[in-house]
Amino acid sequence: MTDQLNALRQYFDSGKTRTASFRRESLKKLRDSILRFENELYDALYADLKKSPEESWITELGIVVNGVKSALHNLDNWMSPERVSTNLLNLPSSSRIMKEPLGVVLVIAPWNYPFQLLINPLVGAIAAGNCVVLKPSEFAPATEGVMKKMIQAIFPKEYILYVEGEGQTVLPAMMNSFRFDHVFYTGSTAVGKIIYKMAAEQLVPVTLELGGKSPCVVESDADIKTAARRIAVTKFSNAGQMCVAPDYVLVHSSQKDALVDAMKKTLLQFFGDRPESSSSYGKMINEKQFSRVVSYLSKGNILHGGRSDKKELFIEPTLIDNVSMQDPIMKDEIFGPVLPVISFQEKEQAMNVINRNPDPLAFYIFTSSGSKEKDWLNSVQFGGGCVNNASWHFTNHHLPFGGRGSSGTGNYHGKYSFDTFSHRKAVMKTPNWFDPNIKYPPFKGKLRLFKWVLR
Ligand code: NAD
Repeated sequence: MTDQLNALRQYFDSGKTRTASFRRESLKKLRDSILRFENELYDALYADLKKSPEESWITELGIVVNGVKSALHNLDNWMSPERVSTNLLNLPSSSRIMKEPLGVVLVIAPWNYPFQLLINPLVGAIAAGNCVVLKPSEFAPATEGVMKKMIQAIFPKEYILYVEGEGQTVLPAMMNSFRFDHVFYTGSTAVGKIIYKMAAEQLVPVTLELGGKSPCVVESDADIKTAARRIAVTKFSNAGQMCVAPDYVLVHSSQKDALVDAMKKTLLQFFGDRPESSSSYGKMINEKQFSRVVSYLSKGNILHGGRSDKKELFIEPTLIDNVSMQDPIMKDEIFGPVLPVISFQEKEQAMNVINRNPDPLAFYIFTSSGSKEKDWLNSVQFGGGCVNNASWHFTNHHLPFGGRGSSGTGNYHGKYSFDTFSHRKAVMKTPNWFDPNIKYPPFKGKLRLFKWVLR
């Protein structure tokens, strides 16, 4: 393995990946091969997660293809040095920021969006001129197999190396024997800590895209019918296995019954009375995840749904109330199709629930009032979020995507991906024609002048 990693280093050092033309060619190859493998990827995503082609396009392939399009369109602009002003002390120098590739970077992905969460960071890494090691999740084997074929068909392994295997074996083997220039990790907070520690041993910078409990607040003045549809569409997409899915709803007590009623109707409209037969409804990835989520149903009061089938890894879209803050459902990230609905009277009560799990990856507020919107957005610290919507901010590549604190560090998407995989090299250039003695010793008597110049 070390030989293969050293080959990436040599390839990077050859300078090949730095040119704009090489980056452009690589991005085009990637885009073309995604389209060539489109149907195979749909089949694989169906096998792993029962995702429909439509959902797969919106949440997996389409996001990446659009990311490539945006990178190709903006590459020259992103790569060009940025001119910045120069302070009085240093005039008449000029200053600029050069964008330099980081080198050999490692991208680690989870299983819930197995294609997008591996290949989307790759777009940024290629655009920024790096060599890349891709480590997919071992828990989405069908998608993993197609991605391997796709990547190996278009890129030499000294440029983009695809590494399979169990994370707990493969990652320490690589990270402890080779110094990467950056590690980009998406996955659980618990494993994120392990990755962070391994990276810290060699002072390798990291981007951590982690999880957490993302609250969704529905205020007394929210448009309830619209809120119900918008919450349900992303909460139950991919059977709730979405990092930015609303984890639980905090609804003003005056609207709780109306919201529950609207959500029940919405779920019937979306998935029918047998969601297991709906082509728009997914399944749990494996038995471990199935059993974990089913265990949440043993406490609280089921308002809707609650059925499950272990053989099919099916869990019905479920609404639940009377949950206790001490139970795992309100401590763990749910990451499944179970939505606790908790009512509040005063904002403070809702804040107390939210603050039990600080720094969520996402936050959603449904309200018709501008002042309530502002108040909530300023009160909750979160990675990113939406007003009168849920999760869709993820799909806008003009917004940086990432968490804060326990939900992550750093961000990506669009230009932010390019920046994540680039070093911003600060350069000041000074002409020779002006070289006043004031800048040189002896300094005695120059204090007042220095104070004036360095303001
Ligand atoms: P995970 O942490 O189990 O696995 C992620 C990656 O880490 C996999 O490639 C796996 O092989 C590797 N890994 C697992 N155990 C390891 C170990 N002991 N040592 C080293 N590497 C190891 O995560 P998951 O269960 O695949 O994904 C679910 C989590 O990811 C959820 O918490 C979710 O919120 C989060 N997530 C976050 C985002 C985001 O963008 N912020 C996106 C998707 C998922």
